Amino acid sequence: MLAHGLIERKRDGGRIEAAEWRSLASAYARGDVPDYQVSALLMACFLKGLDRAETAALTDAMIASGERLDLAHLGRPRADKHSTGGVGDKVSIVLAPLVASAGVIVPMMSGRSLGHTGGTLDKLESIPGFRTDLSLVETRKQLGDIGCAMIGQTAEIAPADRKMYALRDATATVESIPLMASSIMSKKLSEDLTGLVLDLKRGSGAFLPDLDDVLELADVMIKLAADHECNCVALVTAMDRPLGRACGNALEIEEAIAALKGEGPPDLMSLTYALGAEMLVLAGAAADLDSARRALEKAIGTGRAAQTFQRIIEAQGGNPSVVDDPAALPQAPECEIFPAPRRGLVARVEPRTIGRGVIRLGGGRTRLGDVIHPAVGFVITARPGDWVEAGDPLATIFARDRAGIDAGRETLLSAIVIADEAEPPLPLISHRITTAGVQLYRAD
Ligand code: URA
Repeated sequence: MLAHGLIERKRDGGRIEAAEWRSLASAYARGDVPDYQVSALLMACFLKGLDRAETAALTDAMIASGERLDLAHLGRPRADKHSTGGVGDKVSIVLAPLVASAGVIVPMMSGRSLGHTGGTLDKLESIPGFRTDLSLVETRKQLGDIGCAMIGQTAEIAPADRKMYALRDATATVESIPLMASSIMSKKLSEDLTGLVLDLKRGSGAFLPDLDDVLELADVMIKLAADHECNCVALVTAMDRPLGRACGNALEIEEAIAALKGEGPPDLMSLTYALGAEMLVLAGAAADLDSARRALEKAIGTGRAAQTFQRIIEAQGGNPSVVDDPAALPQAPECEIFPAPRRGLVARVEPRTIGRGVIRLGGGRTRLGDVIHPAVGFVITARPGDWVEAGDPLATIFARDRAGIDAGRETLLSAIVIADEAEPPLPLISHRITTAGVQLYRAD
């Protein structure tokens, strides 16, 4: 009866009160409300929107549907990052061990591949033996021992969100600002953080391509964090091309390990340093962004960041030798260089086409439960703005068989656009948003 009345009210443009969100979220988490009613309610919310008070109440209700991580006893600052997701986005895999090696606790909770984007958990699971399903008890212990755990959303954290997010993925209701904000923040605020940095993507490969929508999402999320006394900063970053060069699970792990040794591609290094510096300052572990960046460079230069990743891999059951020997990662049986089909300017490297291409090679899911082939994907060295001659190598395709190589070639032919002239790509980081407002980003 509760759900029916709420669906009817939201359908007709009405509001849902905090106590009603709480009853709905706890009943749904217990299994007392059927998926079809919650799907209908989510679609009504998608179409009619939620005001700020409703968004805050839904967030609180989803947090209250589960347990919190409760880390205050560790006596150290705690920070995390959330990215709205993109193609080639392996920043979390570099950032979590890096920031932990600089003295901040990082309970990095990530997701699986969604739509055209890859998922941090799937990437981590390409490391032989790596477990992402730690219990809360195991997570707390590892955070105390190493300062970082890289896990999925456990059954205990925001279970109402866990179920609702899966429904939204299946019912075309992901791209709603209040639903995204409450879903993401219910998980992050359950982690008992002192600081949170948001990497909000814009551009053709982002879930919210337009800047105005991204700025609105940032505003809602920063206010939700403030309600919970969590310091929060958002950076608006480019997803009009893949981030870094590698797209595909094990290939991205190899690139992330290179970055932990200071040898990653320039865009991945810059974004990692920018987000990491914000995390150190938000957590109170550095006085300002410049000194925070120096601390991160030192952690990479001394090898501490890569060693921390090795300890995390070992603690989570994976093979730590991948850090020194990338050949210990799964290898694709077939690979082939993709040459430029003509001379000209690289006008675009279209991230959605690349992301769908990775799925077509078997590196992502079209349905929950699909098996992922960890070794497949692309390493794309061509960047928008590069001048190329016909036949120059633009990328390498990694596939399970020759049919995969053919599919990969088709993907790259449509994703990498070579023209006589081109619009400039988006700046890697364009805006910085805090509780004080929106500023244009100061590039180094
Ligand atoms: N990630 C989440 O956790 N929730 C959303 O709604 C979108 C992305």
